Amino acid sequence: MKNAYIISTGTELLLGTTLDSNSVFLSQKLIELGINIIGKSTVGDKHEQLTRAFALGLESADIIIASGGLGPTFDDLTKIVACELLECELELREEEDKHLREIFAQRHRPMPEINLRQAMFPVEAVALKNSLGTAPGMYLKKNDKLIILLPGPPREMTNMYLDEVEPLLKKDFALDIHKVFRRNIKTLGLGESQVEEKLGDLMHVPDGLAMALLAIDGEIHIRLTAEGQEEQSSRQCLADHSVKIVERMGRNVFAFDDETLLSRVASLLLTRGIRLAVAESCTGGLLSKMITDMAGSSTYFWGGVISYSNEAKQLVLGVKETTLIRHGAVSPENAREMAQGIRQIAGSDFALSITGIAGPDGESPDKPVGLVYIGLAYDGGCDVKELRLGGGRDIIRIISAKSALDLLRRHIEFR
Ligand code: ATP
Repeated sequence: MKNAYIISTGTELLLGTTLDSNSVFLSQKLIELGINIIGKSTVGDKHEQLTRAFALGLESADIIIASGGLGPTFDDLTKIVACELLECELELREEEDKHLREIFAQRHRPMPEINLRQAMFPVEAVALKNSLGTAPGMYLKKNDKLIILLPGPPREMTNMYLDEVEPLLKKDFALDIHKVFRRNIKTLGLGESQVEEKLGDLMHVPDGLAMALLAIDGEIHIRLTAEGQEEQSSRQCLADHSVKIVERMGRNVFAFDDETLLSRVASLLLTRGIRLAVAESCTGGLLSKMITDMAGSSTYFWGGVISYSNEAKQLVLGVKETTLIRHGAVSPENAREMAQGIRQIAGSDFALSITGIAGPDGESPDKPVGLVYIGLAYDGGCDVKELRLGGGRDIIRIISAKSALDLLRRHIEFR
């Protein structure tokens, strides 16, 4: 497996005025190809900073991929620094010179001589076409290292990567790419350490397999990567271990690979012709937003009510005053009445409700921040689930909404 080091250049990235989206894109793309990212640097436009970053990259990785600093001005030094370190002479490349002059001629502007810097390349390098700007990129293999230089503007960078770089990488590292197989098993309902505990002996993976746990907004993803073996045994090894994990994690598994909780729930509702309505309190419409983020959701989503105040809960959903007085708004009793109330109004097959304390205020000794009740009403019953969530207001709301969808998923899949 090849290792890559990513360098993002530009003082604006250090000042925090521009978000380094280029390195995020490059990481994702290289990982897709089975290339391992071993480090990243963000540096300014100074010669010394660039030299240090490239030297570190060359020392530790097979591939160094940098974005930015390919412009024509004197603070655009990326190519110069990379070539100095690899001891490559830059020479004017006729083709690139001609291409640059054509671009300027089309714009009816004289080409400043300084722009010729962009047409200079070492003999060994491939000049990468920039269909959206003037700065060509560079793909240079030397001394068992590969240096890739891309322009800074994100549109130019992504375009050049996809059109020019990816095909070259696929060609050069074809053997590695074919040997990497992945499986992403997505779970909900348990924290990272609980997942690890439940997996127990399965955390120790067979040779040729790597496993990582990733916590993403309340979901725990179990990522398996098989590599370095003959294709058939890599596939088999991945499949065998995945089956054991899925069996062990049971109902907590909601999706695989690119499937999301939402797409899973949407497909269940769609294929079974189920209609859903929701009543939300502490999530303030987040659950409805998540559901309607899916195009075509009107087929199965009746709609929702944001019953934030007690008055709204009573007037719109028909929650009893005595329930609110006796048990409070954050109670299983209220969650049940909210779900049943909206189901009756909508005439839907299922209804979800959420009520809780998202914080930071509003807690009492017996009702702390993060206490949330979710209701699921259906023909013949109503289930209520209690959650005790940590984290800030945003994450409490996100996990509450996801847990509501997951309660529905489990009911449909397992009852
Ligand atoms: P050009 O000469 O066309 O400007 P360049 O290769 O010299 O190209 P830079 O000057 O470094 O590129 O950056 C150009 C633009 O791209 C700037 O607006 C910069 O904020 C943006 N940019 C640079 N690097 C990144 C990055 N890593 N993520 C997001 N935006 C970036």
